[in-house]
Amino acid sequence: MSPTDSPGLLLRAVRRLLALHADWGLETYPQTPGLTAFLAPRPQAPPPGRTPMPPRPAPPARKTAKAPAPGPQAPPPAESLGELQAELGDCRRCGLCSARGKIVFGEGDPQARLLVVGKCPGPDDDRTGRPFQGEAGELLTRMLAAIGLSRQEVYLTTAVKCWPGPEAGPKPDQLAACLPYLRRQLAAVSPQVICALGATTAQALLHSHTPLHALRGRFHDCQGLPLRATFAPDLLLKHQELKQGAWQDLKAIQARLGQTG
Ligand code: SF4
Repeated sequence: MSPTDSPGLLLRAVRRLLALHADWGLETYPQTPGLTAFLAPRPQAPPPGRTPMPPRPAPPARKTAKAPAPGPQAPPPAESLGELQAELGDCRRCGLCSARGKIVFGEGDPQARLLVVGKCPGPDDDRTGRPFQGEAGELLTRMLAAIGLSRQEVYLTTAVKCWPGPEAGPKPDQLAACLPYLRRQLAAVSPQVICALGATTAQALLHSHTPLHALRGRFHDCQGLPLRATFAPDLLLKHQELKQGAWQDLKAIQARLGQTG
């Protein structure tokens, strides 16, 4: 026999439950719909001979407001980097395809705790198909080593995957064409920290026009992941005086990785 079959058993079960809740220090109960229905007086039985009225049909449910579409910061569905690279293929989605040597997709640990993203490949990257080659890449390697990480332990990529040539960076339409792939890379790797190198990269990922000096110094939310912006290595090669600021950013990243590691 279950407690609901006998008022006596039900009462004892309720007393036991209340005593247990008192042991837990629970003194009040939220007024849930279930509790309200339980406490409501029972409907009176109809007098003999009267046919009970059928319950009134519930009014049609009111249409609720449409859920907002996922914002630009919503993470895309995760997939493997291999699937993503295969989909990118011999990409011709923007004009940068015409003069490029090799697409520079990215490399490193696919489960890296730190993902480093620069603006675009350089000439050495374009020749080899690997990100952060040349002098700026060597500086990045030393920057990572300063916080105890090798290139193999991080994931390295760029906002656009094709070299835009020696004169200029990627144009807004080229960034817009390529950025979805970077966003999907972020979702695939799901690092504990993203390090965005340079203003263009940080602004593109954060949908912001805020200058780099104002973006630096704190973590931002990027697809639910913490992003820290700092100076790009090629700028640091030209302006040694900025290295102290970059070191502060790296130490903040190291501390964040230490907290989550
Ligand atoms: S920059 Fe990106 S979108 Fe443009 S051609 Fe290269 S891979 Fe495709």
